[in-house]
Amino acid sequence: MKMGVETPAQIIDINRLPLAAVEELPKGRGVRIGGLARNSDVAEHALIKSKYPVLSEALLAGASPQLRNRATTGGNLLQRTRCSYFYDPDFPACNKRKSGSGCGALHGFNRMHAILGQSEQCIATHPSDMCVALAALEAVVIVSGPKGERRIAFQDFHRLPGDTPEHETNLAHEELITAVDLPAHPFAARSHYLKVRDRESYAFALVSVAAALELGADGKIKSARIALGGVAHKPWRALEAEQSLAGKTPDITQFRRAADSALANARGYQYNHFKIELARRSIVCALTTVMAKV
Ligand code: SF4
Repeated sequence: MKMGVETPAQIIDINRLPLAAVEELPKGRGVRIGGLARNSDVAEHALIKSKYPVLSEALLAGASPQLRNRATTGGNLLQRTRCSYFYDPDFPACNKRKSGSGCGALHGFNRMHAILGQSEQCIATHPSDMCVALAALEAVVIVSGPKGERRIAFQDFHRLPGDTPEHETNLAHEELITAVDLPAHPFAARSHYLKVRDRESYAFALVSVAAALELGADGKIKSARIALGGVAHKPWRALEAEQSLAGKTPDITQFRRAADSALANARGYQYNHFKIELARRSIVCALTTVMAKV
């Protein structure tokens, strides 16, 4: 709205809805975060810090303290890309802003843009840190609308651009995000968020990694979760990398193999080829840090 990209006739203040709680789900099924819970409150909540450290770390890596005090869970999920062509209504070519107008970034300045899951219609990235952690944690988005309530698996909430980059999520018209559930997965507590950016504060990710590992009694990896930020139109689950780690000894050789499989289909553009190697090294670094956690 500030840049004139959106000009709604009406806006509705939902701040007084009772959706700001962070609470344990019954029978140890996990934690529910209200859609209006503030990023600062979630990041510092004892349940989140102890059971889902990757989420606390991701939130604290985002924006500034002042913004985190205002930003909400629902708002975080609905962040729009920071592609500069999208944010300039005077620039003619942006399929996301005006369907069928072209993509200025495809042959323009695309340093911050996608290397995975992109299309010829749009190579924008999703800017959220929180969502990368939620992807790795296999969160569930709870939405409410005229047809009642429904639960959406996190990996199905955001969309890849395809031929319709103007549609960024699968939220239907008149639906509201009321909460996000974090299941009680055994890998969640041993997790870490790594954010690589141009400066250490108040900058979007060039590449980020949310990583989690569950180890068996034999010291081998029972299950792994890896999600990438700054590389795709949505938080990117590296499923092949996760599968490649199952049953393996958690060492640098396996981490490098997993990183290679995560980037096997990556494609860079004129100014962002560096992201492929950066993402590869970031995955190895994040997994190594997870292993150093007790
Ligand atoms: Fe628009 Fe997407 Fe192209 Fe950016 S990358 S100019 S948002 S279509």
